[in-house]
Parts: sequence; structure tokens; C-alpha cells
Amino acid sequence: MTSLKVFSRLTHDARIFVAGHRGLVGNAIVRRLKAYGFDNLVLRTHAELDLLDQSAVRTFFKEEDIDYVFLCAAKVGGILHNSLHQADFIYENVMISANVIQAAATYDVQKLLYLGSSCIYPKHATQPIVEEALLSGALEPTNEGYAIAKIAGLKMCEKFHQQYGKCFVSVMPTNMYGPNDNFHPDHSHVIPGMMRRFHEARENRASQVVVWGTGAPRREFLYADDFAEAALTVMECYDKPETLNVGTGEDVTIRELAYTMAKVVGYKGEIVFDASKPDGTPRKVLDVTKMKSLGWEPRISLEIGLKLAYEWALKAGAFDIVAAEGGVNAPSAPPLRP
Ligand code: GDP
Repeated sequence: MTSLKVFSRLTHDARIFVAGHRGLVGNAIVRRLKAYGFDNLVLRTHAELDLLDQSAVRTFFKEEDIDYVFLCAAKVGGILHNSLHQADFIYENVMISANVIQAAATYDVQKLLYLGSSCIYPKHATQPIVEEALLSGALEPTNEGYAIAKIAGLKMCEKFHQQYGKCFVSVMPTNMYGPNDNFHPDHSHVIPGMMRRFHEARENRASQVVVWGTGAPRREFLYADDFAEAALTVMECYDKPETLNVGTGEDVTIRELAYTMAKVVGYKGEIVFDASKPDGTPRKVLDVTKMKSLGWEPRISLEIGLKLAYEWALKAGAFDIVAAEGGVNAPSAPPLRP
């Protein structure tokens, strides 16, 4: 992807911390930053910096003199994993947000970008979902823990902006996919989970592949590199405390996704839907008018994006490994005591 984006705010000597750089989103942001010649990136693996450890996070910010933060680290997971581990999702995501945002404020970070998620909007929000719909109704129960934690992080940014004048901004990405995704069979989101199942069915010459749920829910999907371009645009030119939706503004049914997936993977057998698995929220598509007014728009169609993600997964051996619980960029908390 080429672009003639001009940066005046993000200077090449700025120290940029991408938290969660090994995950789907963080990795895409690092790739885009490097493509634009930003080499002054500060990156830490989970083993090098545990974002759940407040004291370690404070020491890191004190010593590293960070100018910009892309806060992409989070405990993430698909519908099933998320619904069964809600205590872990709420705890880890609250801790990561609180530790990083507070340390960034204390040690004078110039700007921080926080990632919400379209799944933190109310379950029955009017579609396409506008930013003002946040907190206007009850949440989808399968990811309530995750959503509450993400809302807390988003509101922390807004409040630090209002009370302390900190330029902490947030975006609300739709469902994302691409290289470095978590391809775990049960813990992943729909695209990598389904891709693995279709790939295995093709390899094993299976006559049938099972897709979770009824196939009726509608979802919007954004290729991670398109999101990364949006994140850089926001870092460069958007300073308001109000969050911004980032998506394509277009959705497909899970059934349509399954047929496109079959085409991309080359699976020719039957597709059956397992209605005993949760469907989740019936529809989730974002109104992206505000984001597009900043001059950004997505470039990669679903079919092309799926092809790119599949090529990456094959090359990286993503189907050979069962990824670590919760996703590749997910710090895992010590077991919670009863
Ligand atoms: P959601 O957007 O928060 O509901 O999260 P997911 O990406 O996990 O699921 C999206 C939809 O895809 C749900 O309706 C699932 O039932 C459906 N789905 C179909 N097959 C799969 C699969 O293999 N994995 C996951 N995670 N979801 C699937």
C-alpha cells in the first residue's frame, strides 16, 4: 500500500511506544510506521514489560521518555472464549488501560491513542452505529466484561483530556483481521477461526465444515493495515476527546462470509451452521462519516483482505500452532483467587 501522507506532528525523532506490537493491530501499526520511515519505535514484549504491573509500567514511562503511545495491547478473544472468561477479560483490560493511561499522564506523553471496539456499543444500537450511541443501552452479554473494561479505558482518556488537558484520544474499530491474528480454533474471532476450519477441511478433504451460529448475524470487517492507516491519521490530525468509529461502513452476514471464505481457501464441500453456538449481537456496522471526513478511507476489500490474510497464515504456519490462550498479544493474568 502506498500513500503520500505528510506528517508534521509525528516527527521522526519522536519516541513512539506501540503497546501490543506483536498482535494483529499493533503489528500493523508498526509496519505502517516503518513504511513511513519512523524508526524511533519503543517496543516491549510481554516478557519485557508486563502491562498488568503498575510499578513496572511507571518505571518504563519514567525511563523511556515516550512522546506518543498507540495503546493496542489488550486481552482479546472471540465470542466463545470471551463469554467463558469474563472475569479475566474485565480484570486484565481495566488494569492495562489504567496503568498505561495514568503513567502516560504522569510522564508527559504528548499524545495517546486508545482502542475501543465496536462490540462495546449497546446490543440493540440503531445501525449503522453512531459514536453517540455509546452507553445508550444494555450491552451484549457474551462480552460484557470486555466491553465494560474498554468503556472504562475510553472514558479515562476522555476524563484525562477534560480534567488535565491531556491529548488522549480514542477510536472505535470494527471487527479487524489480517496478518498476526490469533488463529486458535476456539479462542479466535470469526475470520481466523473460520479460516482455520475451512483450511483444515480442505486439507483433510472433508465433505462438511461447521460454522458457528445460525449464519444470520451481520458483521463489518476491516483489514488491519487499513486500520493502521486510520490510526496514523488520527495521531496526526485529531485531538478531540470524542471517540471516532473506524470501519468500512459495510457489513455481510456470517453466511456470506463463509461462502467468500470457501472461495478464498479453495474449499468445495458443504457448509453447515451449528445453531447451538452463540450468534452474539445480531448486527454490528459502524457509521464512519466522521473518520472519513479526516480524509481516510479503507482500501482493501473483504475478498482481497481474506486472500492476504490466508497467504500470511500459510507462510507463517499459523495453522500448525495452537496460539497462546487469548491471542498472541494478550498478557495473561495470574489465576484469580476465589
Ligand atoms: P463478535 O463479533 O464479538 O460476535 O465476535 P466473533 O468474531 O467471535 O463472532 C462473530 C460471529 O461469527 C458470531 O455470530 C459467531 O457465532 C460467528 N462465527 C462463525 N464461525 C465462527 C468461528 O469459527 N469463530 C468465531 N469466533 N465466531 C464464529
